[in-house]
Amino acid sequence: MALPLSFEFFPPKTPEGTEKLRAVRQQLYVQKPEFCSVTYGAGGSTHQGTFDTVGEILAEGVSAASHFSCIGATKASVREQLATLKAMGVKRLVALRGDLPSGYGIGGEFHHASDLVAFIREETGRDFHIEVAAYPEIHPQAKSPEADLQAYVTKIKAGADSAITQYFYNSDAYFRFVDDAHKLGATAPVVPGIMPIGSSTQLMRFSDACGAEIPRWIRLRLQGYGDDIASIKAFGLDVVTDLCDQLRSAGVPALHFYTMNQSAATLEIVKRLQLG
Ligand code: FAD
Repeated sequence: MALPLSFEFFPPKTPEGTEKLRAVRQQLYVQKPEFCSVTYGAGGSTHQGTFDTVGEILAEGVSAASHFSCIGATKASVREQLATLKAMGVKRLVALRGDLPSGYGIGGEFHHASDLVAFIREETGRDFHIEVAAYPEIHPQAKSPEADLQAYVTKIKAGADSAITQYFYNSDAYFRFVDDAHKLGATAPVVPGIMPIGSSTQLMRFSDACGAEIPRWIRLRLQGYGDDIASIKAFGLDVVTDLCDQLRSAGVPALHFYTMNQSAATLEIVKRLQLG
């Protein structure tokens, strides 16, 4: 049976970026994604761009998930945005706490993603399929691994339907996370988030910020390639295809690709996995 795929984009900031993303989406649609999702700047900074991109995806006949972060938001503003998304025909949300850009105060009426999940359910019943974030390698601000796992379980019990993980290159962390969550009664599907490797410096920067571990052997191999982009890409495709293959063999429910608004690496991985 085919493994369901989903693709994540960020809202482009320029007209050129918007045009490029339209072309990228058409290339990726050939793989018949279950849905495409669009990220949301915490503090609401990109919400118009998010909603515009989500609207384009829906108009292209593809199911779209809007990411939705709640840090710094009020109940009234969340209520209003939920009504907008519902009127647009959005049926799927990725409900997040988000990270406030520096310079913002704490404020707001939501403290954790679980507060947002509970609020969405209270306000809109079953109108939306709700995804939440999961961190097999532990969220960087977690008080402890146990507290982080419990926070995940709380999000699922607040009404989330499924989860997408932070990206990882160590599948053991994912399998352990899924087992531990199951033991605590959180049995919702946990979809691995897959980050293709296209640039060594970008990957290191992201990973340091979000707490994803780059295993030593991958880090050293990438560093060893220096500016040789072709070798970085070739190595990255091998590593990420092997990871996906391992996950597929273990029966994961789907794969979610962080496309970074590019199609080539994702398409090549899917082709190598013979999913397309
Ligand atoms: P939470 O689940 O609220 O967890 C945040 C921290 O608080 C964790 O350390 C957790 O252990 C702790 N915590 C949670 N609940 C409690 C509690 N009750 N008591 C004590 N501690 C608690 N960011 C964006 O800005 N926009 C996006 O579109 C976006 N999309 C993402 C998509 C995915 C699939 C993933 C994995 C991440 C995404 N992020 C996005 C990043 C995310 O916003 C950050 O990782 C953020 O720091 C945490 O958000 P969360 O929803 O996981 O928060």
